[in-house]
Amino acid sequence: MNTYGRQAVEFSRGEGSWLYDTNDKAYLDALSGIAVCSLGHSHPAVTQAICEQAGKLIHTSNIFPIGQQNLLADTLCRLSGMDKVFFANSGAEANEAAIKLARLHGHQKGIGKPDIIVMEGAFHGRTMATLSATGNRKIQAGFEPLLSGFVRAPYNNVEAIATIGANNPNVVAILVEPVQGEGGVVIPSPGYLSQLRELCDKMGWLLMLDEIQTGIGRTGEIFSYLHEAILPDVVTSAKALGNGVPIGACLAQGDAAEVFQPGNHGSTFGGNPLACSAALAVLKTIEDENLCDRAMALGQRIVENLQQTIGDKEYVREIRGYGLMIAIELDRDCGSLVAAALDDGLIINVTAGNVIRLLPPLTISNDDADLLVQKLNPLLDTFAQQ
Ligand code: PLP
Repeated sequence: MNTYGRQAVEFSRGEGSWLYDTNDKAYLDALSGIAVCSLGHSHPAVTQAICEQAGKLIHTSNIFPIGQQNLLADTLCRLSGMDKVFFANSGAEANEAAIKLARLHGHQKGIGKPDIIVMEGAFHGRTMATLSATGNRKIQAGFEPLLSGFVRAPYNNVEAIATIGANNPNVVAILVEPVQGEGGVVIPSPGYLSQLRELCDKMGWLLMLDEIQTGIGRTGEIFSYLHEAILPDVVTSAKALGNGVPIGACLAQGDAAEVFQPGNHGSTFGGNPLACSAALAVLKTIEDENLCDRAMALGQRIVENLQQTIGDKEYVREIRGYGLMIAIELDRDCGSLVAAALDDGLIINVTAGNVIRLLPPLTISNDDADLLVQKLNPLLDTFAQQ
């Protein structure tokens, strides 16, 4: 169906940080399939895991125990500090699980109409529940009636949330992105998550973090809450978890991990042997190759380079980054830059109208990271002159 405005270029193969179109023209990939292919394209460890597993067993259903799913759950729990995992197939589905978990938790506490606090500018997905939780009217328009049970608060404002809570006994949880990705790479003040943790503890709410874009190493930790040494009650993951093989996960710890019982939730494909094998290879590679530290170092390198080369241009409002989630905010809309960059063999993204979003693979070389900045500089000048 006609759901996407697509670019004119089609890719036929990829290797590391490079994609090649059907005419074999090379493109430096600073998008990674929107924060998905964090190990780059055709990573040998992922390819091998998929091929080996496909030759053995792809799917059995969750009616039976699945060894690879158990292994992946153990690995994820060890890395995240969570206790249990529900596996889905996408980010929206992972968030659906979190939303259902919070509601069921509310009912178990005797709250018949539980509310979840969600943020202005948030993006949580395109299913009915997740678009209702999303703080963007464009995504909701035409799909009313939206789901009730979401209360909106400004992002990066803990006091506003405390005020809502003081007047609403039905609140059971906060659902929040540690960095708003689709919203324009909005990075909250340091300590934001710790303050939310404190508030949730005081109010008896679940802290639920949507780490679908920030997670799996992108911000320099496997999950970005680890920067603040706190634990959420629930965390959702997808995107980079399978490096392109569809998989989503809703992780929980403590009481939140005990909310779902058999029959409460499910997924035919969720956590099948193929997807879990791919994700196991992804996590092993990230650990073996120390890619979280690499993301941090690369992010600093790119942001410093950008500051030096384009930081002084009058149309550049701000350059900001958190690991390898990098934004160049301009003083004007710049959607046309995407096609101009493609012409020049560079894949970038523009979000929130005027924010160039860079999400290169965690495996990008220093030379290619430098090339990315070199390519952007003249592109921006040409754009500004038009
Ligand atoms: N949550 C966040 C923070 C996202 O960035 C996205 C996708 O961009 C989603 C949820 C939805 O994920 P999916 O497209 O896999 O359903």
